[in-house]
Amino acid sequence: MADFHSVYGAAPAGVWAAPGRVNLIGEHTDYNDGFVLPLALPHTVRAAARRRSDGLLRLYSEQGDGRVTELRVADLMPGRVEGWARYPAAVVWTLRAAGHEVGGADLWFDSDVPTGAGLSSSAALECAVATAYRDLYGLALSAPELALLAQRAENEFVGVPCGVMDQMASMCCREGGALLLDTRDLTRRQVPLDLNGQGLRLLVIDTRVKHDLADGAYAELRAGCERSAQLLGLRALRDLPYAGLKPALDRLPAELRPLVRHVVTENVRVEQAMALLDAGDPALLGPVLTAGHASLRDDFRVSCPETDLAADTAVRAGALGARMTGGGFGGSVLALVAAGALDAVAEAVTTAFADAGYARPRTFAATPSQGARRLV
Ligand code: ADP
Ligand code: MG
Repeated sequence: MADFHSVYGAAPAGVWAAPGRVNLIGEHTDYNDGFVLPLALPHTVRAAARRRSDGLLRLYSEQGDGRVTELRVADLMPGRVEGWARYPAAVVWTLRAAGHEVGGADLWFDSDVPTGAGLSSSAALECAVATAYRDLYGLALSAPELALLAQRAENEFVGVPCGVMDQMASMCCREGGALLLDTRDLTRRQVPLDLNGQGLRLLVIDTRVKHDLADGAYAELRAGCERSAQLLGLRALRDLPYAGLKPALDRLPAELRPLVRHVVTENVRVEQAMALLDAGDPALLGPVLTAGHASLRDDFRVSCPETDLAADTAVRAGALGARMTGGGFGGSVLALVAAGALDAVAEAVTTAFADAGYARPRTFAATPSQGARRLV
């Protein structure tokens, strides 16, 4: 690859790619041992790479800071690496912490996954590194094992307490389907998502905003969920069935009730979505998505004016359903639309944003794509 060569003066040993993801339904359930239903985007982080034998890790990204970051693999420690280089360094550190004897590498990245848009560019970057390292160092690690290592990298080295959905989606999704994942035991199944065959499109609207409260709020919400499970004597909120929701809410302090209601009803929505997709009825997903948005807005309270405006406008302009996707406080919205209405819905949202004085959103249609893989 020409650009790898211009940075490192040699050819790479190979090129790997890992996708971003959009989550169809199942939001804030992955740290409650619940269910999620993401699909991989056609957008990927590509990593061109070669092994080094001197213990150096060299990192360069077309979307980075314009310079090569050089690190000594043996010296990697959480807290010692700054900026975007933390993500790839984290994966190498985690592989070693897990007992895999890996050394240095030259890594060059290029990506078309929007960053900070709730589409998991961070997981795509981690999974591209994990997959490249698997092959460069001949590691006998499966896709879910690499996903768990990448999650641990983000948790322990980068310092983001994310659940396992993003990395599992980037590693394990397949073309033409969504990944039904039980985040308790990582059992999973490909659920068919034939949008084109049904004259449907999945419109992704990146609002281009990320509100500052995102990080602190995420940790707080997570703690609230864990506390609720504890008060109810459950291992996780996943263990509260919908039939037990009402009596359980009566036993909780008022401030925790909406959190629990969201998680329990969201798991039900994943089940509903799965049944509709299995039955070959993706067009009927619309109301499930819209109900999911209302729950995130009113109960979990992680939407914001921009995502509300995008979701509401999409539905008013003819989308079958729409909801925010990702952690919230900005990021992206997905809308299920009839193919013929795609442009009109995208335009309506763009106009509404202009009228509200918001930045112009980025819109694109997502097709369910392949998870992490070697390209060359
Ligand atoms: P998201 O995962 O939703 O895109 P995050 O805040 O979790 O948002 O991760 C975004 C961060 O990941 C960026 O700020 C950057 O540090 C890093 N990142 C993602 N893609 C790249 C890339 N191609 N090159 C360099 N850094 C990247
Ligand atoms: Mg991320």
